[in-house]
Amino acid sequence: MKALVYTDTLEMEYRNEPKPVPGPGEALVKLEAVGICGSDMHAYHGHDARRVPPLILGHEAVGVVQNGPLKNRRVVLNPLMTCGHCDHCQGGRSNLCSERELIGMRLAGAFAQYITIPERNLLDMPQDMDSVIASLAEPAATSLHAIYLAEQVLHRPISECRALVLGGGSIGVFAALLLKHKGCTEICLGDTNSLRRSTAKKLGCCTVYDPLAKDLPEENSFDLVIDAVGSGRTRAASCCFVRAGGVISHVGLQDNEPGLDTRRITLDEITFLGNYTYSAVDLRAAIHALYEGALGPLDWVETRALSEGASAFREIHEGSVAAPKIVLRP
Ligand SMILES: [Zn+2]
Ligand SMILES: [Zn+2]
Repeated sequence: MKALVYTDTLEMEYRNEPKPVPGPGEALVKLEAVGICGSDMHAYHGHDARRVPPLILGHEAVGVVQNGPLKNRRVVLNPLMTCGHCDHCQGGRSNLCSERELIGMRLAGAFAQYITIPERNLLDMPQDMDSVIASLAEPAATSLHAIYLAEQVLHRPISECRALVLGGGSIGVFAALLLKHKGCTEICLGDTNSLRRSTAKKLGCCTVYDPLAKDLPEENSFDLVIDAVGSGRTRAASCCFVRAGGVISHVGLQDNEPGLDTRRITLDEITFLGNYTYSAVDLRAAIHALYEGALGPLDWVETRALSEGASAFREIHEGSVAAPKIVLRP
């Protein structure tokens, strides 16, 4: 089969790889669409010790099952593999499972024609749903989960919050769209990339600003800050813009540099929330919202052939892509 293989830092190669063979309880899936995630880019930059080349990356995937009880069914892959029986799995927080594995991390990912995955990681989807739209379920579920956790600790309904989103990649864009869908009317989004800012402006759901310019949002004014970048600078910005009593929902994993103002967090009772991935419930909710068109026209998503994947990675790296998401078609 053909696959896009991460072979070294800043190197991707489209080449022949052995077609995987499903083991007991596993499905062979012929892939239709696979999105490029920020975490794939992190690996491509050589910054992810967990993703060692040569490796097939990719985990935002949709395809057709080739064997077993769901044969010929189109499915969304839940890329997070969990043990199913530990305390976290049984307590409904399987994303915290200590034995969790993600496809495209140590196991082969989905930038390929085929993948094998446990049958219990297959999520049903409307069979007439567009595969590129369905592949957005994973990033949308990540944003949904981040908002859901914040809702547990916000002291007012989301519809009455002022919200700030840091980062205009797909997680940030989905966060803004989902906040609007939940009734939030005051949403602001910051990104340093002018192409991404112009894409975010076209969404029509948020005001957009350049964090490097002079014209910044008002400090100490947002009930909710969603950090979809996760750098020392965005953590510092979160602590500056969040209101007393507000919530910082931290999703991005760009670096581990200092930036948190723990004095302000303490004195102003600010809640700092870490978020990791999603539950199967979040994924199903994301599939439903995308299928119903609840997140508006998804015309900001760009589609390319998997064979063109290496140039897509290079262009995202160079910052010359306006689309917050590129989906590859095997
Ligand atoms: Zn992802
Ligand atoms: Zn577990």
